[in-house]
Amino acid sequence: MVQSKTSDAAGFLALEADFAAHNYHPLPVVLTRGKGVWVWDVNDDRYLDCLSAYSAVNQGHCHPRIVAAAIEQAQRLALTSRAFHNDRFGPLCAKLARLLGYEKVLLMNSGAEAVETAIKAARRYGYRRGVPEDRAEIIVFANNFHGRTTTIVGFSTDPDARRGYGPFAPGFVVVPFGDAAAAAAAVTPNTVAVLVEPIQGEAGVILPPPGFLRELRALCDRHGLLLLCDEVQSGLGRAGAMLAHQDEGVRADGVILGKALSGGMYPVSAFVADDRVMDVFEPGSHGSTYGGNPLACAIADAALDVLIDEDLCRRSRELGERLAAGLRDLRSSKVKEIRARGLWVGLQLHDDAGPARQVCERLLGEGVLCKDTHGHTLRIAPPLVIQPDEVDWAVERIGRALR
Ligand code: PLP
Repeated sequence: MVQSKTSDAAGFLALEADFAAHNYHPLPVVLTRGKGVWVWDVNDDRYLDCLSAYSAVNQGHCHPRIVAAAIEQAQRLALTSRAFHNDRFGPLCAKLARLLGYEKVLLMNSGAEAVETAIKAARRYGYRRGVPEDRAEIIVFANNFHGRTTTIVGFSTDPDARRGYGPFAPGFVVVPFGDAAAAAAAVTPNTVAVLVEPIQGEAGVILPPPGFLRELRALCDRHGLLLLCDEVQSGLGRAGAMLAHQDEGVRADGVILGKALSGGMYPVSAFVADDRVMDVFEPGSHGSTYGGNPLACAIADAALDVLIDEDLCRRSRELGERLAAGLRDLRSSKVKEIRARGLWVGLQLHDDAGPARQVCERLLGEGVLCKDTHGHTLRIAPPLVIQPDEVDWAVERIGRALR
């Protein structure tokens, strides 16, 4: 293991090593507070957060408006279950539906649960249209990341995510990402939906070829399939638009949201669709004890207000261009490719440049928190409230770490 950055952190690391399941491999820094784009460790050293909790903290750490909403609501009413109505649920559903231009919202907690909700909706939708019961097929893409449930990892192509967790649910067909012809060839009479990340985040910010999403839309229209866009990571400003796929002139039949829906304050996720899709659910057919609870709704309500009032999609586009340009200007011989959309960058290192994890460890010493993925990719995704001079500062530090 890499030496912890500070000795004061050692006690916390030891407790984790002894008592926490080893299902993650965090960088050796123990964080204790955050504000905006900055986080501080237990020794009061400051870091620029360039991961944003995998884009959950688009609005910045501990945004005062979201904190205030959380405190106010926590003191009033936190959980009712959906056995009763609460006065925060309807207003949030209305706000989200109107914002995205859909008729109905189904609230869950984690991103994976919202993906599961979309899968359930698509299967029922297909059976209503005559697909034989238990035969529904959904087309998905290689290198996808949709979460960690057994159903979802069953159609992952990442051996680390799948190994030892079978048997898996049938009914998923994997085709190469970006290959609309392969998706078309995979359609059978039992196909009910196409499930896609408009930009593959965990895979390393992989942008599909231009027109790919439009071709999927046309394919779905031709065969009466549902186009389900997983915007858990790409949505809510990260890629420079409220929804990354709408930026391509495409309207999905179902949208999956999570992460930044709460600005990083609380797990809140949603499946959003029109009545013809959402009508497949009736009382008792799907739900969650915490889904749509008043605390979650109050927090998500404030988190959406922040996204809109602070114009975070525009900021993401403009500052994203600055970030990508700055990284290109580094002209690092270690960098093979820079993929960027909004404030979301995948920095692809050459295979012989050493593991991206090493660059993350050097960046930690430079006061920047980044996360590697798939060996040689560095993901850079600061909160969307970042200032231009902070972008420049991060670029300069990344340049140093690459040297
Ligand atoms: N879908 C996408 C595109 C994601 O990136 C993620 C998480 O990274 C998920 C779903 C799962 O979200 P959660 O970890 O909240 O279950």
